[in-house]
Amino acid sequence: MSETQLFDKISLLRLAFSGLADDELQEMAVLTQICTYPPGSVLCHEGAYEDTFYIVAEGNAAISKKISAEDGERILRIAGKGDLIGEMALIQNVPRSATVRTTTDCAMLEMDKGDFETMLRRSPSMAINIIRITLDRMRENDQTAIKDLQNTNKVLRQLDRNKLEFIQVAAHELRTPLTVLKGYANVLRSFPEIKENTALGEVMDGINKGADRMHEVVNTMLDVTRIDSETLKLRAAPVPIKRVIIDIAHDFSKAAAERRIEITLEQDAETPNVNGDPTLIQKALYHLIVNAIKYTPDGGKVILCSRPITMDHNMPGVEISVKDSGIGLDAEHHELVFEKFYQVGGVAIHSSGKTTFKGGGPGLGLAIVRGVARTHGGKAWVESSGHDEGNFPGSIFYLQLPVDPPNS
Ligand code: ADP
Repeated sequence: MSETQLFDKISLLRLAFSGLADDELQEMAVLTQICTYPPGSVLCHEGAYEDTFYIVAEGNAAISKKISAEDGERILRIAGKGDLIGEMALIQNVPRSATVRTTTDCAMLEMDKGDFETMLRRSPSMAINIIRITLDRMRENDQTAIKDLQNTNKVLRQLDRNKLEFIQVAAHELRTPLTVLKGYANVLRSFPEIKENTALGEVMDGINKGADRMHEVVNTMLDVTRIDSETLKLRAAPVPIKRVIIDIAHDFSKAAAERRIEITLEQDAETPNVNGDPTLIQKALYHLIVNAIKYTPDGGKVILCSRPITMDHNMPGVEISVKDSGIGLDAEHHELVFEKFYQVGGVAIHSSGKTTFKGGGPGLGLAIVRGVARTHGGKAWVESSGHDEGNFPGSIFYLQLPVDPPNS
């Protein structure tokens, strides 16, 4: 080996590893060789066991990682003069975690695995250097990942706002012609020709029922946009929770009886009133009860409970739970069902009935429940041992609200 090449190697090694003694640098220089590569050469293959450790002497190489089949490969960083490549896989004895591809003409100082391990054993300064470089890189990767996540969250928030705006416009646009349709249908209903004709009367009833259901869906769409908007102000008033539950249970008694579902109330006498928004709380309870009936087979049971509780920071609160003997819900969906439009299974199961078994819906009910909980400073969640349409393990949906919501 020529004197100049040795000298070049030593100055490069000094750049890569600070604080190494001259004899250690000499020893490393002897164990390394300089190789050159044209642009586009792959030095490390992600997933492969390979035996070479590189220090970039000249040029640049891109370090990239496969993210997923859809997202393809992503460049993590560009290595330049003095950067180490491939040391982590050698130390851990694992396959390469990334692909390294030269982007320019490159010169690399290379050492094979055996020599690299010998050097590590012999030179604590080199080992410490590698640990420091690796930790710095991990910290940098963390920062990049955090920044990426923040950017992705920003984009997702914007997309969510776009979605809400679309729902709002669509709901408003649908509401006007629907109101016109219902008006004309009512006028038609009063015509003697229709009043006296049973068959036509049934057709008119069908039109009215369909229009009412559409109106309900449109209103639910508007509710979700209102509840999700950050500007929502609570119109607080004392809400007699026990009374509200009794009234809603009564409203559903006919629909439940048609499917032989028994609705039972188990309310603690001490259940307090909540200084919240009566309309919002009613809507949340409405959706919980509609769901309990909808996802319970004929002949099942729905139990509505309420009790006083102490929430975080010793705040007095109320817990309402809706327990059913229905199909249940697998753990992987427990959080997702509270997202707008999220439905378990395909949309093909949809039928138009509000309380028909597994009738389906727009997937907005639980988003409204959680929205109402949040605007009141409370929380909503579900417990269920899993989905089983043979044994019907059921689900319990909880809604906790503070007696005095912070923003009331
Ligand atoms: P949907 O309009 O589809 O009922 P929701 O937001 O009210 O929308 O519910 C979202 C999903 O959560 C439903 O599609 C259903 O799969 C599941 N779900 C809701 N309530 C229950 C329940 N009581 N038992 C089992 N699954 C439920």
